[in-house]
Order: sequence, then structure tokens, then C-alpha cells
Amino acid sequence: TSDHLRHVESMATMPSGAGKIPRLNAVILGESLASEEDDLVYPSEQFSSQALVPSPQKYLEMYRRSIEDPAGFWSDIASEFYWKQKWSEEVYSENMDVRNGPIHIEWFKGGFTNICYNCLDKNVESGIGDKIALYWEGNELGIDGSLTYRQLLERVCQLSNYMKDIGVRKGDAVVIYLPMLMELPIAMLACARIGAVHSVVFAGFSAESLAQRIIDCKPKVVITCNAVMRGSKIIYLKDIVDKALTESTENGISIDACLVFENQSALKKEATKWHEGRDVWWQDVVPKYPTTCSVEWVDAEDPLFLLYTSGSTGKPKGVLHTTGGYMVYTATTFKYAFDYKPSDVYWCTADCGWITGHSYVSYGPLLNGATCVVFEGAPNYPDSGRCWDIVDKYKVTIFYTAPTLVRSLMRDGNEYVTRYSRKSLRVLGSVGEPINPSAWRWYFNVVGDSRCPISDTWWQTETGGFMITPLPGAWAQKPGSATFPFFGVQPVIVDEKGTEIEGECSGYLCVKGSWPGAFRTLYGDHERYETTYFKPFPGYYFSGDGCSRDKDGYHWLTGRVDDVINVSGHRIGTAEVESALVSHPQCAEAAVVGVEHEIKGQGIYAFVTLVEGVPYSEELRKSLIVTVRNQIGAFAAPDVVHWAPALPKTRSGKIMRRILRKIASRQLDELGDTSTLADPAVVDQLIELGNSKI
Ligand code: ATP
Ligand code: MG
Repeated sequence: TSDHLRHVESMATMPSGAGKIPRLNAVILGESLASEEDDLVYPSEQFSSQALVPSPQKYLEMYRRSIEDPAGFWSDIASEFYWKQKWSEEVYSENMDVRNGPIHIEWFKGGFTNICYNCLDKNVESGIGDKIALYWEGNELGIDGSLTYRQLLERVCQLSNYMKDIGVRKGDAVVIYLPMLMELPIAMLACARIGAVHSVVFAGFSAESLAQRIIDCKPKVVITCNAVMRGSKIIYLKDIVDKALTESTENGISIDACLVFENQSALKKEATKWHEGRDVWWQDVVPKYPTTCSVEWVDAEDPLFLLYTSGSTGKPKGVLHTTGGYMVYTATTFKYAFDYKPSDVYWCTADCGWITGHSYVSYGPLLNGATCVVFEGAPNYPDSGRCWDIVDKYKVTIFYTAPTLVRSLMRDGNEYVTRYSRKSLRVLGSVGEPINPSAWRWYFNVVGDSRCPISDTWWQTETGGFMITPLPGAWAQKPGSATFPFFGVQPVIVDEKGTEIEGECSGYLCVKGSWPGAFRTLYGDHERYETTYFKPFPGYYFSGDGCSRDKDGYHWLTGRVDDVINVSGHRIGTAEVESALVSHPQCAEAAVVGVEHEIKGQGIYAFVTLVEGVPYSEELRKSLIVTVRNQIGAFAAPDVVHWAPALPKTRSGKIMRRILRKIASRQLDELGDTSTLADPAVVDQLIELGNSKI
């Protein structure tokens, strides 16, 4: 603990006022990079003076307490929530070390609460019943809606009553396969209210993926809608559900009830295929139920939901989160990482099918009584200015999105952004992948008019909430660094042998000790939980990500550890090379993987997507390589540049490097599970381009 505090404390001595310090984003073990300098981006005086955490000193004071006295720190915060019955003496109990027996983590055990009650009833009772909880923006311009906290509570209660009526009980699973309609958070909250365990499946997944998840958790009911428009494309969700339910019946899991919301703007009732006896229209039944519904008080350690990871690295894992710790953690991280104020209007572009949509569309914001925007459509429909149109329409103050969207909007040009005012914005956020410094700068300068701090939040489905993140206004940022740990989080960097390394270093990112939002198991497979996360480095939770820490204590995520490339003994993070490539004005996006190399051990293979309209040329290929040479060094120069009209991405927008590795090494019959790819056609395009050697 003391070592860790020292790293963090080093920043209390940071220079005040803008200035330059050497950039030490070293991804090479034990070596620092050439002296490229990095700007420290300071928050304005004005921002800091109003911030919840206005200075590094204030952060340190709170952080120190959270590490030295976690029980006291978290129980003070937890006491601000409603508990039907307070937790027992012990605030938490944990075993994070496989050598000491089974891994277990418990927070607030014995305490009885309900997260839906804390999201809704508590806010209504405190007097904000008439405040807007959700603004809903439809796919088509001009189609929208909203619900106040009171209205949201009523809608949730009706659905809870319906579910109770058809026999859903505490502990039962409910699968939700819905697009970004208000009914999606409503369904999640309705489950939580009655103690049912929701498993939201992103409504872009195939029938097969959906069936796999249904078979895994055996839900009492599946909640869906008939269809949805995304951009100009219609997706027939109900048809996909029908197929999935047929498949699960064949596997011995038959579902008695399928509740279908009629999404009228996409498809009318009459045009929807129907399975009599099983299918029920939401609009026919739910509104008939009473608008009040008693709350099922659950133990803090009762399961709240099950969610599968996005599958970037292999077979998706069914992550299980429980109630009390998750509630306290998502609410607190939301509040501090976005410097939340009651007057804020918050918009997170993530889908509720991902953890970001769980923690930071539904639960975190609502627990704080925030007003949130839920957007059904695609961010580039009808054109690339849609996000900023929505920001202006709802006067969004906090905007949270993923680097993939930032890069694609950057590629489309500034005019789409500058056409809109965006004056309301005050905090920006990023999640999902490391954000390249050049994309960070564009986001900061163009989108935020150099006014809004960026919270680059590093976390995972498994962690429940933010782990390493800037606190806006508290300290200077470095473009591309997630900066410092959140309260109660002790990130450690270890070497191959699992030994903690101190100071300026690079290695495997682990976490010491538990935090309230940690997942408790992988559903039905506690052994895989221990093997994947706790056995690689006994004594720690292993994130699977690589990370370096610079001399100022800032953390830089370097990608998944299986993506670290070893070139002639130099360990190079893919993130670093990709950032150098993306900083080239004609490069829109890049993904780098390692391939076998006779001499160097591993060579660097770069897939590059160019800015719209730029033709492929030998000259450009050279100029890209030179950019990497100049920014990182000759050893990091790509051996191959493979033009990519597009990159294979998961449905949550992350680049799937494991597929690129197979393409690069021509192991085309070993592409593995591609079911979580957003657009499988991209893979064929890439293989073809590889063959033609453009
Ligand atoms: P799977 O575990 O199935 O391979 P996944 O890891 O992509 O899928 P998520 O839990 O959604 O599923 O994503 C967490 C991962 O995303 C992190 O481990 C990290 O690699 C990356 N990530 C998320 N946020 C950031 C960030 N701000 N900076 C860098 N990397 C990030
Ligand atoms: Mg993961």
C-alpha cells in the first residue's frame, strides 16, 4: 500500500501552471522512449474551482483514506443510500489469493436494499419526481420522448407487476433483447425491483449468440421488440428471437413467455410474425397493471445481473454482479469521474447491451438523480453531425463515448462538428479502448472547444465501474493517459513473474484487494473465474491488459497483453504503434498485430484505414512507416502495411485483433469465433486485399 500511495503522491508535486514535461509513455520494459514531449493539459481555473475534487491534494486526501480505511470510506458513502436493513458489522470480506482457498468477495453482506428503489422511489421521495429522468431520441429526426422520475417509476412498476403475475420470482433470470428504447432501462429496473436477474443481450447479436445466452441462463421470460431502425436499415428483432427460441427449445430449454414491445416507428403489429400462446404484446398487457409495486428487498450479495463480455479475446464470459457493492460503486464513480452536478444533462452513447450501458446509462446516473439521454439511432445518421445536433437539442453537458466513434467522426471532418454550438458541453468521456493521443486532441480541441476535460475511463465488464480515470478539474491530463486510480482501487503493475514493479515501468496490469463493484464469479463457472483472473498472478486480480506508468505516476494502457509484440527483445504495445499511425493526417484508423519474423522473433504488421478519398500508394505506405520511426523509433517501424477499407470490430466497436493476427499470419482456417463481429464481411475484404498485395 505504501508503495502505491507513493506513486500516486508523486503527482502532488506536479508543476503548477501549463508546462512541458518529458513524455514517458514507455512501452518498452526498462527503456524510456526518445524525448518526445507531451503537453500537460490543465483544467481551467474556472472548472477546477467548481469541481467536486478541485485539486490533487483533495484527491490524495480522499484516496488515502479509501486505501487505509476502505471499510470506513465505503460505509460512509453507502450510508447515503436507502437500506431496509443495514449490513452486518463487517463491511467487506474477501479472499483474492488462490493460494488461500476459493476466491470470494463480499461487500455490505447482510444489508438489505434494492437498487431500483434507490434509483427511482428514493429520488421521487426526495422531491425530484418531476425532473426528467430519461430523454429519448429516436432514430428519425423529430421522433422523441421523455419520462420524469415519477413516470419512470410508474412504468417500471407496471412491468414488475406483469412479470410477477406470470410467475417471475426473486432469483429468476430474465433475458432482455431490446434496442435503445426507454423500455430497455425500464425492463432492467423492473427486474431489479422484484429481485429477478437480468441478462441483457445486445440487440445486434445473431440468433445463435442469443440462443447460446438463453440456454446458459434459462430465463423465465424473454423481453424484446418487433423491429428497430438503425440509420436507414431495419432489423427484425422478433424474427431473430423466434430463431433463437427454436434453437434453445431444441437444446431442451423452452421459454413460455416472450414479451414483445411494438416499436411502431419501425414495424407495425400486423407485419410481425407471431407465436400464439407464447408471444404477448407489451402494449396489450403491461399498461393494465397498477403503477405501484412493492419492492423485493434483497441481500447486498444477491445477484443483480449477468452480462457477457464483448468477446474481443475469445468466448464471451458470463460476468455476474451483485447488488449492494455494485450500486454504491457505480453511483460513486459516475459522480466523481464526470464531476456530476444536479443541473447536468448526461448522454452516454453506449448501448445497454454492454457494461457501459448498465453502469453508466442505467444505474450510475439514475442513482444520482441525473437526467440522461437515450439514443436509439446511429451516430452518423442522417449525417455525421447527429451527435452534436442531439447535444444542442437537449443541452447535453456530459458526453461519454468510445474512441472508435471519435476516430470515425474525426475522419468525417470538422465541419460536422463546428456547425453546431456545443456550448452546453462541460465534460467529455471516453471508454472501450485506449484513446490515441491524436484522437484525444481532436476530441478535446474540436468537440470540446479546448474547454472540457476528458475522462478517459479504464475499466472492464468485470470491474463493474471505473478503475483508472481522470477526475475532471482535479489534475492536469496527458492526452491518451487514463491517469490515476479511482478511490479504493490499487492498480499494480507486475512483471512476468508476478512481482510488483515500482516507479516508472511497464508490465501487466493487476489490482490488489477488492473494490465494491468487482464481479463475484463467472456464471456457473467459478473455476474459470479463478483460472482466468486470479491464477495468472496469485494474490492479484489480473486484468489482461498491459500498462505502463510514467515518472509522474500517470497510467497508460498499452492494449491487451496478448497484443504486446516482442521485436528483437523490445516489448512494444500495439496501442503505441497505432497511435503513431493515426497521428498521420491521412490515416483514419490503424490496428497493429505481431507476426512471426525469422530474424526479429516478431515483426509488426499494421492494418491501416485511410481517410475517405485518399488513394493507396507506395509513397503513402512509406510515409506511414516514417511517421512511426520518427515517433517511436526504428525498432517499431511496421514490416507490413496492409490496406484496410475497414477493420473487423466487435459490436461494441472494438478492434478484434485476434482475427487480424490470423489474417496477418495467413492462418485463415483458424479465425475462431466471429459471431460477435459487427460486420463479418470486413474479414473477407481484408483477406482479398492481402491476396492482391496492393
Ligand atoms: P473480452 O473480455 O470478451 O475479450 P472485452 O475485454 O472487450 O471482451 P469489455 O469488458 O467490454 O470486454 O472491455 C474491457 C476492455 O476494454 C479492457 O480490458 C481494456 O482492454 C479495454 N478498455 C476499456 N476502457 C479502456 C480505456 N479507457 N483505455 C484503454 N483500454 C480500455
Ligand atoms: Mg475483457
